[in-house]
Amino acid sequence: MLRIIAHLDMDAFFASVEGRENPQFRGKPLAVGADPKEGKGRGVVSTANYLARKYGIHSATPISVAWRLSEKAKAQGLPPVIFLPVNMGHYADISEKIMTLLRKEVELVEEASIDEAYLDLSFLGTFKKAEDWARRVKEQIKSEERLTASVGIGPNKLIAKMASGKNKPDGLTIIKTKEVKDFLSPLSIREIPGIGPKTEILLNSKNIKVISDLQKMSEEELGEMLGKWGRDLYYKAQGISDAPVTEDHEVKSIGEQETYEEDTLDSMIIMESINAMATRIIKSMQDSEFKSFRTVTITIRFSDFQTKTRSRTIDFLGKDPVTLKREALKLFLPFLDKRENPQKKLIRLIGLRIEKLY
Ligand SMILES: [Mg+2]
Repeated sequence: MLRIIAHLDMDAFFASVEGRENPQFRGKPLAVGADPKEGKGRGVVSTANYLARKYGIHSATPISVAWRLSEKAKAQGLPPVIFLPVNMGHYADISEKIMTLLRKEVELVEEASIDEAYLDLSFLGTFKKAEDWARRVKEQIKSEERLTASVGIGPNKLIAKMASGKNKPDGLTIIKTKEVKDFLSPLSIREIPGIGPKTEILLNSKNIKVISDLQKMSEEELGEMLGKWGRDLYYKAQGISDAPVTEDHEVKSIGEQETYEEDTLDSMIIMESINAMATRIIKSMQDSEFKSFRTVTITIRFSDFQTKTRSRTIDFLGKDPVTLKREALKLFLPFLDKRENPQKKLIRLIGLRIEKLY
């Protein structure tokens, strides 16, 4: 069956949300991120709208640099940048609405980040139908959320992702299987996901600048130059990728479980294990690419192997073990009494997990 994959990426998501909710910002450059503190601030810009990008301000621009660029624009008679703090809980709510809208349309939705998703559109059968589908969904997001999205459609995730970046904002780019090679050839090697500044410098030093330069090389040559990653790159440069679209649950959650030596209903023992798991889970989160969570899930397995799962999504961003312990206990306490455990069954296993990680 023909694989048809879409990558949907919200345009300047955080800044667009702020713009839509504050009509007084319309037509003005916005940067959502750290507090610039008149140029002395630390931290970076999370998202800049398209007007601020014209000043040279982008995601990950140091906030002090963004401040200086804004001052420079001001001195030239241009509107200064409006700096706004990151209101992550709110963006996450809107993200959830958009993801829900997508899930009503497509069975397989992979939430790649708060404002990006891969969708498996193979069930539509043709690129033409996928294109019509994307137009309709973009309109729906526009009318329901007053936000624009850019969509790329291709034979795999790699091409879909590269295509969605091509005509931003409000773009729709379709790359059919037979167009893949021509689409890739003229692009800078930097556009291949995973090629960072270091690899770029290394490859440039060997006169490899655009993807067609890579396409001329063999898998062995690239392997010798860059090891395993070089071999991966060989396939990427050819536009070959068979990574599946997968639901995010396994990927974006961190959890643990503990099976007790003896089944128990001793609240001290259980709370101690919840506390210990919470501390370790927060540590793993801090060591990962994520810094906060919104959903806490507990699993309880009774001695008869009946298993129950309870979840709670908080309306702020949880960051510390205290928050996780508190939310886990709220979910767990009913299992100690007749609310969730009328027969006073003993507990064999407890699991704790955080999801909706940002
Ligand atoms: Mg985006």
